[in-house]
Amino acid sequence: MPNRPRVDPLELGADDLRAMMIQWGEPPYRADQLRRFALKGVLIESMTALPASLRSRLNETLADNRVIIVREMADDRDGCAKYLYRLSDGQCVEGVRMRYNHGDTLCVSTQAGCRMGCGFCASTLNGLARNLTAGEMLGQIAAASERSTVGNIVLMGSGEALDNYDSAMAFLRAVNDPQGFNIGMRRVSLSTCGMADEIERFASEGLPVTLCVSLHAPDDGTRRALMPIARRYPLPRLIAACKKYLRETGRRVIFEYALISGVNDSPAHARRLAALIRGMQSHVNLIPLNPIPERDLRPSSEPVAARFQRELESAGVSVTRRRALGGGVQGACGQLRQSVMER
Ligand code: SAH
Repeated sequence: MPNRPRVDPLELGADDLRAMMIQWGEPPYRADQLRRFALKGVLIESMTALPASLRSRLNETLADNRVIIVREMADDRDGCAKYLYRLSDGQCVEGVRMRYNHGDTLCVSTQAGCRMGCGFCASTLNGLARNLTAGEMLGQIAAASERSTVGNIVLMGSGEALDNYDSAMAFLRAVNDPQGFNIGMRRVSLSTCGMADEIERFASEGLPVTLCVSLHAPDDGTRRALMPIARRYPLPRLIAACKKYLRETGRRVIFEYALISGVNDSPAHARRLAALIRGMQSHVNLIPLNPIPERDLRPSSEPVAARFQRELESAGVSVTRRRALGGGVQGACGQLRQSVMER
């Protein structure tokens, strides 16, 4: 097929889908059938309830949302699994399934690669390859669901969800649809590197999704050295956007903070972090840095991490240190894809 832009049925409104069917001389209810299939991640060729002629026309027009698990690594110690998915054009993205007491959580990718350039992250090393469609995000859930039931979603795989805004929103609405996977918005989290304008736009969607913000530093100097996005949106602007999100959705914001040895892990950094988010309904997730071979950054030692946590606690900050899940399966962003693409 030539590189004609193709539409994803999940990204078309119900009215547009119906208009398309009518224009093709099909009964309008075909649009609802099509959407119901798409919501379950069914590929066009398998929509056998639709006439073959319609299927072949859909095949020419719609995006090929094929998502296949081509590699799978399981870690028996913690029940985590890492999947490498292949998309229809050969691009690969990855996902991690984490087993918690309250059911499986699937980490979903929103882009192949990423253009945000964070200095510690493997997903961004080769820049952005392309955006995923909503159907390809859903396809990851469909593929993973063949292995185990997925109860919770985190948009924390490769890519920046808010940099692929429309597809991410179409995905959120689709995954929540009672005719599809029917996963409640309260069981969904979206992580961003801190795109303040897009956070505010997201706040106005009125979806009770948990917002996670990758902070990783309590001052703009340290943050700019790690994350290029900090140049576009300095901390006061970012924190204001988070407060707006909290106001509009009533959901406390989760701040992610990867402890990096000698970079952002001193008691002074902890005190500054506490001051930055004082009075705000929020929670801090301390993550051990997963070192990637391409970068010379190391995780903080255990005593330094414990001290950092204590410092936050004594300042009244709600904080947990995330279990280092997925370490045995190259769970850090982009690591598996990177190791495959380099061959
Ligand atoms: N673009 C989104 C999702 C990225 S991945 C975001 O920036 O939030 C999810 C989380 O993993 C982010 O908090 C990200 O900063 C973090 N992360 C990326 N590489 C990491 C690494 N090597 N070690 C620890 N955390 C990492």
